[in-house]
Amino acid sequence: VTGLRIVVAADVGATKTRVALFNSADVGLVSKAVFSTPQEGGEDAVANAIIKAFRSLVEGLPEHEVVAVGVGTIGPLDIREGRVVNSPNIKLGSFDLRKPLQEYFRAPTYVVNDCVAAVYAEYLSGAGLGKKNVVYLTLSSGIGAGVIVDGHLLLGKDGNAHEVGHIVVSYDSDIRCGCGGLGHWEGMASGNNLWKLIEKLRVRWEGTSELYEISAEGPVPAAKLFEYWKRGDEFASYVIKELARINAAGVASVINVYDPEVISFGGSIILNNPEFLKVIQEFVKDYVINRVPEFTITRFGDDVVVYGAAFIALKPPQELVEIQGRLR
Ligand SMILES: [Zn+2]
Repeated sequence: VTGLRIVVAADVGATKTRVALFNSADVGLVSKAVFSTPQEGGEDAVANAIIKAFRSLVEGLPEHEVVAVGVGTIGPLDIREGRVVNSPNIKLGSFDLRKPLQEYFRAPTYVVNDCVAAVYAEYLSGAGLGKKNVVYLTLSSGIGAGVIVDGHLLLGKDGNAHEVGHIVVSYDSDIRCGCGGLGHWEGMASGNNLWKLIEKLRVRWEGTSELYEISAEGPVPAAKLFEYWKRGDEFASYVIKELARINAAGVASVINVYDPEVISFGGSIILNNPEFLKVIQEFVKDYVINRVPEFTITRFGDDVVVYGAAFIALKPPQELVEIQGRLR
């Protein structure tokens, strides 16, 4: 086949899935679609939705050939099978990706954790270009990381070697994470959970403010907290400072464990409130032993995982080829 050689890349999230087509020659984004991740329909539901989106994206394209497929997905992952297993964040729970996609596309298909894909994009074409120790960190509805140490993309025995969102940032907290653990970074500071922190802090706080009044009526969405912070609301400022300290403790733990040269931040909390990263950064020095790396915000924005999935598909690391590289 002559014509356009394309890579199909997907970012499977708990609520949204993105599918993007890339030109394999320059990893340029050709087109993309975003849709709600299926919450039911069985093992192949998500793979079928990706295929459906692909078919609508290629309509009207000139002659083309799919040369590789890459997926970055929510976990936990069974990396040998390329399946998501018992995910607490999606109704489907477990679903297959690699097998049904490879059967349809008849092209090498790789499935990794979403943040693993993202750090690979940073390493090959973003903030980590020319560096060997790179972390991508997302602060969003959840918290996660992808890590490259000494030029090696860390995968782990099941593909879950970077559950940094479940680092304990407060050993005596009674705030319970979605996973069941106490005092977990994600349980206290992610977009979906930070209302629990707000409820704790409002009991301690003495004073009054608009956000304080609103917080009496029920869980405060993350976007509202940041909106009131920017307006100078006193209770919001107090919460943001505590939230920044929790994030600083988590970021410092990542620095202490992986010793990166750069951390690239992404996820809706940081992409929508880049000034919050500065506040986190101020507190990091209180918790680190290792030399503090460069902090930056991903240049890929919301598309970081699909870019990463495209790079994973085109230039799969050797370890991943050994696990998933054979057409079965
Ligand atoms: Zn947890």
